[in-house]
This record gives sequence, C-alpha cells and structure tokens, in this order.
Amino acid sequence: MSSNILSKAIRIGTVAAAFGLAASSAFAAAPMARTPAPGYYRFMLGNFEVTALSDGTVDLPVDQLLHEPAQKTVAALHAAFQKAPRQASDNAYLVNTGKRLVLVDTGAGDLFGPTLGKLMSNLKASGYQPEQVDDIFLTHMHPDHVGGLVENHVVQFPNAVVHADRLEAAYWLSQKNLDSAADASKGFFEEAMASVDPYVQAGKFRPFDGGVELVPGVRSYPSFGHTAGHTSYVIESEGKTLLLLGDLIHVPAVQLDHPNVTIAFDTDPEEAAASRTKVFNQAARERTLVAAAHLPFPGIGHLRATGKTYQWVPVDYSRMPAEKPQPH
Ligand SMILES: [Zn+2]
Repeated sequence: MSSNILSKAIRIGTVAAAFGLAASSAFAAAPMARTPAPGYYRFMLGNFEVTALSDGTVDLPVDQLLHEPAQKTVAALHAAFQKAPRQASDNAYLVNTGKRLVLVDTGAGDLFGPTLGKLMSNLKASGYQPEQVDDIFLTHMHPDHVGGLVENHVVQFPNAVVHADRLEAAYWLSQKNLDSAADASKGFFEEAMASVDPYVQAGKFRPFDGGVELVPGVRSYPSFGHTAGHTSYVIESEGKTLLLLGDLIHVPAVQLDHPNVTIAFDTDPEEAAASRTKVFNQAARERTLVAAAHLPFPGIGHLRATGKTYQWVPVDYSRMPAEKPQPH
C-alpha cells in the first residue's frame, strides 16, 4: 500500500470514528434487526454462474451419530472451538450454464424442522424463480437433499426434470425395500418416495448410470457408500472446475483428521470412507475447487492433504469478477 493510500485510509478512518461516536449517541435506541443475511453466495466459474444456496442449519448430535467414541468426538469438537450438538449447514448449489439452470439438491423442505427449509426463499432472494430451474441433480435421496422438491405433495419446480443415479432410485423408491427396512429406517424410504414420486408420475424423473455427461459442463461422478447411488458432480467451464461433493463429509472437526470415521447415516460405511479418501485425495492432488453440502455455508473451498489427513481451506470471500470497483 502506498503511503498516499495509507494516509487517505487513516483520514477516512478518523472521520468514520468521529461519525460513529456521533451516530451512536443519536441512534442508541435503534431496535436490533434480528434477521439473518440472505443465504446465498455467488461467484463465476469460467462462463458459468454458481450460486450456493443455504437451506439453513440443523443441530446434529454428532457425538452420538459418528462411529467413534463420544468422548473422542467431543474432544475433537472442542479442539475446533465447537461442541455437540454441531450446527450443521445444509447447502445446495445452483448453476446457470447460460443454456440451462441446474440445481444440485433441494434442501429439506418441511421434513427436518423449522431451522431448515430455507432454500426456496434464498433461491428467490438470489434473483431466480423455481419455474426457471431446468434440471435438478440429486447427490442422493436423503430427506435433507430431496425434501425441497415438494411442499404438501405439490411439485415445487414445475419445469424441472429430476435426475439421480439409477441405483439410488432403485434403492429408495422400492416398496420392497421399504417393507423390509427396520422400523427406524422406514421414514427415509417414505420421505424419498413422497419427494421424488410426484416427478416420476409426471414423467419428469430421468435416472442416469454412473459417470456421464448430463448437460454440457455438468458430469456425474459416482461416490457410492453414503448411499447406494451417492453421486458427486463435476461442473466445468473454460478450464475451471468445481466438484460438488455431496455428503462425503459431515463433521469436519473429526473427519478431516480421521477420514475413516463414518456416520450412522452411511448405508455402507466402509464404502463411504473409501469414497471419501479417494475423492479427497484426487481433489487435493489436482487442487480442485470443491463444495460440500454440510460444511459451513457456503461450503466452498479446497482440500489440502497432509499425510493421511486433510485441511479445509475455505474460499476467500470475493466480489463477482464482472463487478466494477465502485468509485469513492
Ligand atoms: Zn445430507
């Protein structure tokens, strides 16, 4: 910073401080707003516009959910200045390719209580309408990813085609699997069916098989284990890549240091841990920008590998590149 700019900054700071003093005495009784900031974060990926959408947060008793002694989880949370229950983000991602408006996951809708289900209001706050969404790609069919598809049985994205891996659909939309599921798990099947079936019945569900290009610039990347057909997505434009991880990680305070630790929601814990390590290693090696559904919103950053552990490096908050600096 040149001394010229520095001295200007100090001058502005001094003026602001004087103003602050005056303002605080004049407006001390202003009521607190108590409203959160709209939950979206936008950036350009090559020619694509990416908008991270918050569905809200949910308190998860991760000390009970992880396949790890509770006291070890509590200690790891403490070391990360957190505690159980952990307030976990639920993030979805909207990608405007210029030709298609693509939504990856839809939040929980009304399936997960009042602290989630904010995706629709944040989508609108970000300047889009649900009718504009052309394609919805599901990472998997757990309620916090499919719940936003419908509200009171009514389709919320009337012009969208919903896609998921064929194995994922075959698992969760099967009446036979629902009938034979343990009582505690039946709700997962029922909620997946309630959310996705209206699209199936309307002829607006199109499954895919494994890793394929779905629309130009969007490719599925199988990362099975968390569920039978859990899928990550690769978004690519002008040589820039974003890998949407889905649910490859739930508790960063634990699973970055111990990627072998799995969670009660994993259908096949061993395969889930193997997918995590495989995809994380690749993302770290190739320095790929990644985004994850349950990392703190907006959940976008890089994974740095150190031996067998990882560090999460969140993106620097930055302006849209097309935005011109405002003159002062
Ligand atoms: Zn999830």
